[in-house]
Amino acid sequence: MFHVNENYLKLPGSYLFSTIGRKVREFQEANPDKTVIRLGIGDVTQPLAPAIIQALHDAVDEMGKAETFHGYAPDLGYEFLRNAIVEGDYRARGVEVYADEIFVSDGAKIDSSNIQEIFAPESRIAVCDPVYPVYVDSNVMAGRTGDYDAETGTWSNVIYMPCTKENNFVPQLPEETPDLIYICSPNNPIGSAMTKDQLQVWVDYANEKGAVILFDAAYEAYISEDNVPHTIYECEGARTCAIELKSFSKNAGFTGVRLGYTVVPKDLKDGDVMLNSLWARRHGTKYNGAPYIVQKAGAAVYTPEGKEQLKKQVAYYMENARVIKEGLKEAGYEVFGGVNAPYIWLKVPEGMTSWQFFDYLLETANVVGTPGSGFGPSGEGYFRLTAFGTHENTAAAMERIKALKK
Ligand code: PLP
Repeated sequence: MFHVNENYLKLPGSYLFSTIGRKVREFQEANPDKTVIRLGIGDVTQPLAPAIIQALHDAVDEMGKAETFHGYAPDLGYEFLRNAIVEGDYRARGVEVYADEIFVSDGAKIDSSNIQEIFAPESRIAVCDPVYPVYVDSNVMAGRTGDYDAETGTWSNVIYMPCTKENNFVPQLPEETPDLIYICSPNNPIGSAMTKDQLQVWVDYANEKGAVILFDAAYEAYISEDNVPHTIYECEGARTCAIELKSFSKNAGFTGVRLGYTVVPKDLKDGDVMLNSLWARRHGTKYNGAPYIVQKAGAAVYTPEGKEQLKKQVAYYMENARVIKEGLKEAGYEVFGGVNAPYIWLKVPEGMTSWQFFDYLLETANVVGTPGSGFGPSGEGYFRLTAFGTHENTAAAMERIKALKK
């Protein structure tokens, strides 16, 4: 007699973005004459850069000839891509990471979900609050999180590290000791980033306590301030306590192409067991999820033309961030983020919940954002807008929001 994994049943019924989708659909049906502008979901809008398109075309042609055809990709990913990553993302910053520590995948979502599987079932997790929901959800499915309290939106066996304006959105070291610490910097949804000194405190703490930091650097390309590290391995001692997750989605527009990688340093060990060897046996080893064609496109990100073109793409989105930030300030809102990340985090007006503000913005300005409470209990009272729209949509949305205040 089979039974389902009951941990799956513990996940709260409706995913944040499906609730948003339903509300927007209902609004559109009731108001067919209104144009809704979406500054909610974190998908990109700009087309792939020419250098990437060229690499894709070339790789497709190679696949059509017997001499250059490629079948299953190597376990860790093609060496040409892993070497480009090591040079472009690490050596260029004076950071020590090796090609056999890079595991190419089809995106950071799958890796950030699956990485918990190489740790003991009883591991205690700590998460920044609010944060990208995948970290908690994957641990719910693995049975680590205890019971859900719908009233507080918290799990009994998760250590929450609030990031609010009161602590300048920097998580404090927790009182209870975690085994796994998820840190996302620059953070989705807050749009804030830790400085190197702030992150070093966490690296020292993890080494002292024997914990592992799972560091999500998906938004690294948006860092503009010099004191913000681009990789956790810029911090001393991180090779013995940190795994890094990276994505090509937001720096190169690969949300629909799918490519990412995870770094598991060989110095990271439990006794004499290297975590690097455990991750080598992860689900989907052998094919690693990313096709040859896509890995070729990924390598184009690190060419001089690719870098130049993608810098412009990031600047395009960050111009939107500036427009949103300034527009919101002009409209009288308290605004955070948007400097080292494509996310703007605003405080909702006194007396409103973040879902009430969602409805208010949809009904009055016809603009869609994301309620902060969807990212964790400390997100209540906040709201996220993203800079991934077009210039035209972003400007139009801000004009509507500013007009509400007049
Ligand atoms: N990590 C963070 C913090 C994200 O916000 C996202 C996507 O929004 C991802 C990972 C997923 O990246 P990918 O598209 O590579 O799966």
